[in-house]
Amino acid sequence: MARYIFITGGVVSSLGKGLMAASLAALLQARGYRVRIRKFDPYLNVDPGTMSPYQHGEVYVTDDGAETDLDLGHYERFTGVAARQSDNVTSGRIYQQIIAKERRGDYLGATVQVIPHVTDAIKEFAQADTEGLDFVLCEIGGTVGDIESLPFMEAIRQLRNDIGRENTVFIHVTLVPYIAAAGELKTKPTQHSVRDLTSLGIQPDILLCRCEKPLPETERAKIALFCNVRKEAVIQALDASSIYAVPLQYHAEGLDNEVLRAFGIEAKGEPDLSRWDDIIDRQTNPEGEVTIGVVGKYVGLQDAYKSLHEALVHGGLANRVKVNVKWLDAEVFEQDEAGLAAKLEPMDGILVPGGFGERGSEGKIAAVTFAREHKVPFFGICLGMQMACIEGARNTAGIKHASTTEFGETTEPVVGLITEWMTAEGRQKREEGGDLGGTMRLGAYAAKLTGNSHVAAIYGGNDISERHRHRYEVNVHYRQPLEEGGLVFSGMSPDGQLPEIVERPDHPWFIGVQFHPELKSKPFDPHPLFKSFIEAAVRQSRLV
Ligand code: GLN
Repeated sequence: MARYIFITGGVVSSLGKGLMAASLAALLQARGYRVRIRKFDPYLNVDPGTMSPYQHGEVYVTDDGAETDLDLGHYERFTGVAARQSDNVTSGRIYQQIIAKERRGDYLGATVQVIPHVTDAIKEFAQADTEGLDFVLCEIGGTVGDIESLPFMEAIRQLRNDIGRENTVFIHVTLVPYIAAAGELKTKPTQHSVRDLTSLGIQPDILLCRCEKPLPETERAKIALFCNVRKEAVIQALDASSIYAVPLQYHAEGLDNEVLRAFGIEAKGEPDLSRWDDIIDRQTNPEGEVTIGVVGKYVGLQDAYKSLHEALVHGGLANRVKVNVKWLDAEVFEQDEAGLAAKLEPMDGILVPGGFGERGSEGKIAAVTFAREHKVPFFGICLGMQMACIEGARNTAGIKHASTTEFGETTEPVVGLITEWMTAEGRQKREEGGDLGGTMRLGAYAAKLTGNSHVAAIYGGNDISERHRHRYEVNVHYRQPLEEGGLVFSGMSPDGQLPEIVERPDHPWFIGVQFHPELKSKPFDPHPLFKSFIEAAVRQSRLV
């Protein structure tokens, strides 16, 4: 049976619980254990798919088509274990299931209550799909004391009794703030937060204390005393120079040892951290740098493009260069053509990422034109590929009114709504006018690449599988005029109906993809498209 590590947070939000969970999982993995990480989100949305990226950051999509919290992206990037639908649950999903059961009459006249019905559903979720695992790490979203997270706290408290104390460890992530006026780190917020947690029946085994300055022994002893944990189990977590340094740092602070000790497992030898050492070596000793301009809509909030940013960093690691990412607001480009050239000229590569809605689209299209005409490496992802096709249609195929039906009615739907597509389970159909939540083409789909294409060379093969999240598709009926204009359809769905990749053979690096390659990139295994894109940007930087 798998052992469980529950991770809660206290004092403030944004302490990096997700990174902590991912890093601890990476450390356990480096000791040879099989791990999986799960996220419990207390909000009432069924999934984050319908939330604005401004509210919630990126929606991370799994192979099995789940729209999940962006923390699952960290989990997958740090462990290489592909996340699944069963790794993320929200209060909304739990309640949806329970209410559906209640309506069906499954509860046989009982009163349906938070305890036991909601807590049982949470426990079932935590324990499902865990075969062959040594450790399941469960991160509870939110902060101790939140009303929403109470059923989750209660469920994990019960789980400790259900599966045995020796099979569960509770880690509480807190903040030890530095008060400049006093010149001191303050432990009181941590004490209060642990008191809140113990009032819910949960005594943490390990405290991970986020702090700006090293935690003196005296303060560590004080926290241990007041919070009822061993002194060695009070672990300082200083800000790291890079997120990929966090596993190394936590190991140096003794986290993985403490976790094993709390389970009563004797740590054998040292974990193999060579993968992380190599990443940090590449990151701290770059041989050059490139600047990539990302022309998008949600540029005010970096979390909205979390995986994209990381994938660019990974491309840099593969090429031993530092990648500077410049987030450029597409809308600004719409009013100011001269400004667009001034902003894009210094870029070694231009990327138009995924997105939804018309706002800023003309600016994105203008950025594609700039990249095409100036032969700057161009990478279009999802909406970015669709914009590259509209740009190609308008400016290289003479289809002046090319547009997408996403932006309203058009006489030239170069991009349009497709209501059917093939999956492994057969043909999927989307209901017109149905719910917006969960109605996209989601998850992993296969594609076939043309033999002598640029992308086939990059992937080193003709069969790929990548993750999707979109409603609209490039319209295959425009293939011929677009190809005559130089934009070649070099990747298609296996049935030949859905364009997956376009490229320009007369350009040094011009590729648009309908899927999200950034979701599968890892620091120790950079995605081939990002590796190649950054390589092209390095060449570009040497030209100018
Ligand atoms: N809005 C576009 C669509 O739904 C693109 C989506 C995306 O970029 N993720 O097809």
